[in-house]
Amino acid sequence: MKAVELPLELAQKCVKCGLCKSVCPTYPYKEEEGGYARGRLALAEMVLKGELPLQEEVTRQWDECAMCRRCEWICPNDVHYKEVMVQARDLQNKTLGQGLVKFMGLKALEFLQSKMGRKVTKLAGRLMDSLPIEHIKTPFPTGAVKFMPKPTAKAFGLRGKEFKAEKERGRLLFFTGCMIDAFYGKTGESVIKLMNKAGYTVIVPEDIRCCGAPHYYSGNLPAFEKLKEHNLKEMERYEHDAIVVACPTCGGALQEDYRIQKKVYDFAELIFESPLRFRGKGERVTFHVPCHSYSAMKVNDEVFYGVIESVEDAELRRAQKDKSCCGFAGLFSITNPGMADKIQEEKVQDLRETQANMILTTCPGCVLNLRDGTKKHKTEQDVMHLADYLAQRLE
Ligand code: SF4
Ligand code: SF4
Repeated sequence: MKAVELPLELAQKCVKCGLCKSVCPTYPYKEEEGGYARGRLALAEMVLKGELPLQEEVTRQWDECAMCRRCEWICPNDVHYKEVMVQARDLQNKTLGQGLVKFMGLKALEFLQSKMGRKVTKLAGRLMDSLPIEHIKTPFPTGAVKFMPKPTAKAFGLRGKEFKAEKERGRLLFFTGCMIDAFYGKTGESVIKLMNKAGYTVIVPEDIRCCGAPHYYSGNLPAFEKLKEHNLKEMERYEHDAIVVACPTCGGALQEDYRIQKKVYDFAELIFESPLRFRGKGERVTFHVPCHSYSAMKVNDEVFYGVIESVEDAELRRAQKDKSCCGFAGLFSITNPGMADKIQEEKVQDLRETQANMILTTCPGCVLNLRDGTKKHKTEQDVMHLADYLAQRLE
C-alpha cells in the first residue's frame, strides 16, 4: 500500500505518554487503545506510513472522537491532534466517502445560513412561535433523541445592523454563528447590550454563513474553504477593529483556521476588562467551561470565573469537573448517541452536585445540550448563556 501525503510529522510528535487518556471523554466508555488520542494518532500514523489499510475499524475509532481537543490542551508535547485528525478524515472522506448523516448535517448547516435557508427558518419560526413549548423532542435516524430549541420569528433579525455605543471606544464585528442566528436570538441581543454598555459599537454583517468549523473538523475541506472565502469577503465590507463571538467553536475557527489578523474576542474577555457592574438576585450559580473556549480559543477560564465572581448577591459554586465535555460536540452527539448520552449524564450529575439553581456557560451548543440533559435527567437547574445572565443583571 502506498504511503499518503499527510501530516506524518505531526502524528509522530506523540511520545505515547498516555496523559491524554485521563481527560478524553470518549475513552471511559470502551476502554480501547483506539478510544483516545494516543491510539487514534497511532492509527493515523500507521495509515500514513502505508502500514495499515484505511478500513472501517480504523475510521470507527476516528468517528468516535468528539473533537473536543482536551487531549491537545493536556498534551505536554504540543501534539496538534486536530490537524492530524482533519487530514485523516479528509482522506477517509475521499477513500470511503462521508457517512450520510454527517453529509446531511453539514449540508443542513450550509443551507440554514443561505438566503433561502434564512427565509425558511423565519417562516418556520413564525409558525412555531404560537406553540406553547420551548423545546421539541426530536428523533434522529441514528437513534439520537434531543430536545431541540425551536426557531423563532426573530431568527436572523440582527443581520445587517449596526448597534451604536453611546461613547464609542471601538467597533466590533459580531460573528453571531448558526445557533444564535436561528434559535438563540435573545443571546445575540444580550451580547450587543453588554458590548454597547462596555463602549463598543457592534456590527452584525448581513450575509455571514456557517463558520465552517463543523466542516473542517469533519475533514470536509472544500466546503470549509468555500465558507471561509465567503465570510472573509463579507467581513471585509464592514469597518471594525476586532471580532467578538459568543460561541467558542466559531471563535476558534476564526482564530486558527481563517488566520484573521484582527483579534477575536470571546465576549466575556471584554466584560472582564470592562468596568461593568452586575447585581444578582440571590441565586446559586455554577459554570460549565466549554471545551473549545480553552482548547481552541485559549481563553483562561479565570476570565469567566472572574466575571461571575464580580456579580454581587450571587453565589458561585464551582463544579468538580467544570471543564469536562458536555457530550454535544455538534454532529458527534447525533452520530454517536450512546456514548454522547453517557458523557452528558456524567456532566449533568456533576453539575447537579453543586446544588446551584443555575448553570451558566458560554457556548450555544453547550446550552442546547445541557438543557436537553437537565430535562432528560430532571435536575431542575436552569441553563443560561452567560451573556443572557449578565445582561439581565446589569446595574
Ligand atoms: S498526551 Fe500527547 S504525547 Fe502523550 S500520548 Fe497523548 S497525544 Fe501523545
Ligand atoms: S479530541 Fe476529545 S474525544 Fe477526541 S481524542 Fe481528544 S480528548 Fe478524546
